[in-house]
Amino acid sequence: MPVLEGKELRIVGFLCNWCSYGGADTAGVARATQPTDLRIIRVPCSGRIDPLFIVKALLNGADGVLVSGCHPRDCHYAAGNFYARRRLEVLKQFLPVLGIDDRRFEYTWVSASEGQRWQQVVTVFTDRIHKLGPAPSLEDPEPLLKIADMALTSLRPLGTGQASALGELKDAIKAKLPELDMVLGWGEGYDAAHTVPIFMKKPEDVDKLVWGPFNVNNLAVYLPSFKGKKVGIVVKGCDSRSVVELLQEKLIRREDVTIFAMPCEGTLDMARVNQGLGRYTKIDKVEYDEAGVTITADGKPTRFCMTDYAQGKCYGCTTPSAVLADTRLGVPAKVEAGPYTPPELALLDSMSLEERMAFWRGQMDRCLRCYACRNACPMCVCRDFCVSDSRDPHWMTQDDSVKEKLFFQTIHAMHLAGRCTGCGECQRACPVGIPILALRQQIGRAVGQLFDGYKSGINAEAVPPLLGYEVEEKNIHERDWK
Ligand code: SF4
Ligand code: SF4
Ligand code: SF4
Repeated sequence: MPVLEGKELRIVGFLCNWCSYGGADTAGVARATQPTDLRIIRVPCSGRIDPLFIVKALLNGADGVLVSGCHPRDCHYAAGNFYARRRLEVLKQFLPVLGIDDRRFEYTWVSASEGQRWQQVVTVFTDRIHKLGPAPSLEDPEPLLKIADMALTSLRPLGTGQASALGELKDAIKAKLPELDMVLGWGEGYDAAHTVPIFMKKPEDVDKLVWGPFNVNNLAVYLPSFKGKKVGIVVKGCDSRSVVELLQEKLIRREDVTIFAMPCEGTLDMARVNQGLGRYTKIDKVEYDEAGVTITADGKPTRFCMTDYAQGKCYGCTTPSAVLADTRLGVPAKVEAGPYTPPELALLDSMSLEERMAFWRGQMDRCLRCYACRNACPMCVCRDFCVSDSRDPHWMTQDDSVKEKLFFQTIHAMHLAGRCTGCGECQRACPVGIPILALRQQIGRAVGQLFDGYKSGINAEAVPPLLGYEVEEKNIHERDWK
């Protein structure tokens, strides 16, 4: 007979074969009374549990998910549960940004002989889910959405002033070019208010190089595809973190890459600039001053001040100067580093769980599943083997639903846990302007809090936290089941 009377809820349990499944069996053999809401899936090891199993279950109607494995140090595969512990804790801290109450997911350790502990764990967790009630679904009617203004305060002045060192940058590239196959940089696009990546192979190509707030692309995305070639790259501070992260993950070799760096004073959010320009047929000219640009389109000038039109990531940027470079030009920028919440994340922080879920429902409804966000990401290196395209195993359907689209965003965010450098290319590439960077920023915040302020792409020698473990984790602790 169930301990909890009334309606059963849908609770999914992932139990490792060697310990927790045995523990549940021991409880059953001892006829220990247990609630009956849990549906158990037996897996070889808690290390086999991809956090995406849990998200998929929660997005598809589970009211709660419980993971249980062998106690730390008892893993039958030596360290599976140590890796699991880090991943599952990051997931727990990520769920609320989607609008999912993190109390609906829990993980723990139960050994094969601990029938009594299993009884306690399953009873306490089921009780907790009953108190929370059935999970809200993405299909539920939308609560009235109150969207706070994004707080656009910057850690330092944003501007356009470093273009004065462009001549020296060109000279430095020309001097190094004979030793390189090419140098990646930015050139003017179809008009002076848009840039495109350029691949400089000859000195006359270098003359096309531009520097300024329109240099929005992160060129590091191209580096892994030039394996074996000697490639130079011009970087802003944030781009340099992507280069470092690629080095950390051994996706490029240090001796193959030459980094040219200029301090950055911010780049423009082109979606908002285009909105400010309205409809036009032709850009006539772009004029710069220290604090912003004036774009004249169809004879009408519009001023864009950097403090109002920079990309969200620039307001809290603590690395405007490259973290790693072979040649540095320009005057290093000063940063008043301090606790800072990026505007996109601050917007979500200001909402309740219900409002966040409603927010994502509305945003994901507009998603085209074009995958531009994935393709622009310099750290998305699976290329043709992305799980969103895979049919074996089949993670995602072609269903044009909010659920599937949010699941894809969760895949991207979780696969970038401890690797995302916050470059914002995923959000910038989105043709419909969905603020998906906030999901990556929440993961980044969780990783920083759990692993002593760790920031990806700062130290080329560091091991990303989710690629390792400590036997005793400093900031991850077993929860009480009383
Ligand atoms: S995040 Fe920093 S380095 Fe990157 S574009 Fe903005 S201000 Fe420049
Ligand atoms: S997920 Fe977005 S912010 Fe993070 S590295 Fe990729 S493109 Fe940059
Ligand atoms: S780029 Fe935007 S529209 Fe395209 S898949 Fe990503 S979130 Fe959806």
